[in-house]
Amino acid sequence: MNYRKYIRFIVAVPACLCALLLPSSCSTEYEDRIVYNDTEQPFEATFHPDTIRVGKLQTGSIRHLLDLNTPSTEIDNKPEYTFRSDELISVHASDDGDSLYITSWSAKTVYKISVEMFLPEVNEYLPVAFLDSIPAFSRFGFRPSFLGNRSVCRVPNSNDFVSFEYQYIDEARRKLRLTGDDEHFRMLSKIDAKWKCYFSNYGWTPESPATHNYREMSPIYAREWVVIVTNYAYMMTTPEYKYIMEHFSEVMGGELIDNDDKPFTMEKYLSEMERFKAPATFKLGRCNNSYAGLGGSGIWTVATWNFYGHYASFSGWDAIGHEFMHCMGYSHNGNMTYPAKPQGSDIDVGWTTFLWQLHLWLSHKGDLPYTDRNMLGFHKPENAKYRDEAIRGDFQDDAKLQQKIQEYYNSSRLVKYFKEHPLE
Ligand SMILES: [Zn+2]
Repeated sequence: MNYRKYIRFIVAVPACLCALLLPSSCSTEYEDRIVYNDTEQPFEATFHPDTIRVGKLQTGSIRHLLDLNTPSTEIDNKPEYTFRSDELISVHASDDGDSLYITSWSAKTVYKISVEMFLPEVNEYLPVAFLDSIPAFSRFGFRPSFLGNRSVCRVPNSNDFVSFEYQYIDEARRKLRLTGDDEHFRMLSKIDAKWKCYFSNYGWTPESPATHNYREMSPIYAREWVVIVTNYAYMMTTPEYKYIMEHFSEVMGGELIDNDDKPFTMEKYLSEMERFKAPATFKLGRCNNSYAGLGGSGIWTVATWNFYGHYASFSGWDAIGHEFMHCMGYSHNGNMTYPAKPQGSDIDVGWTTFLWQLHLWLSHKGDLPYTDRNMLGFHKPENAKYRDEAIRGDFQDDAKLQQKIQEYYNSSRLVKYFKEHPLE
């Protein structure tokens, strides 16, 4: 039996230390020395990932984001209340590299997630911590036990061993990521729309008159915005979305039409598909009910009923899609903000019709991150004190609402199409 193994001794010297010892060789890079040693005996791994039981973290070390009691002034235009659609659950090192921080903009708790750190010396990610759960809307940190200790571990996907000792985590060099099999986590991880979102009161104060264009952006509305943005961006990752954008008129009965009243060409469908997911910043808010929504140039606001209507597909998405398309540069011409009837036809065709029917199909199929309005319970009587308006009739009764959704489902052109032409 041959026990010969390689071990790579990696000595990582932080740049600041180099600077102290050798002032003339100051560098922002690590100086690494890798030594390959032949050896006659097998190595034993001494490295073990941390296991973090989040429920057992000390009080104060976990922060809950968007608690219903948080005043809107605390979340209004604040960097710590900014989220990215392609990084809804994230891990980062603290500024001093001493701790790892997990932030979840997921409205659902996810379970059994690993934190992995990239070891550039061996070109592999190493699992460094196992989290039993990541609570919904939360931020917490911990100091990984490997910091400051020399460890030997087997290189993932190899028979090699690696030895390392890090005093702190330099994230620019040792990239971090989260992995796991949790179904909701996997859905969120698929999202590739690069939207940065934050919340705004848009100048509203308790003294603002009822005619003010905007209303207070309290956490109960902000939480629904996270759900809306997540579902919207997720819809854009589905095979159905891609298929429809490539066969629009076949599925929807007419083409999308631009500001100059020109139908989209295939090139336009493909380039807009990319552009809608490209980096963009949105300032999320709530507008006065005199408008269904107000938007454009990064302003994305909708009126109150949309914050609970969106789960039902037939409500909410008209305003949400309309203001999004203003942000994408579309006017009221064409059919990117309002649907239009193609000549000689009695059916509505346009972006918002496509959007709500796609939501209806995916929601029925269970292929959306959020389908259950009872999860956050915006409409529930116990949350009335956090809202400033009553819930509209259609949305007060689960059974009646379900019946109405079913009627829309039965008459949807998009649903009928996918029932008759299932995607492989
Ligand atoms: Zn408009």
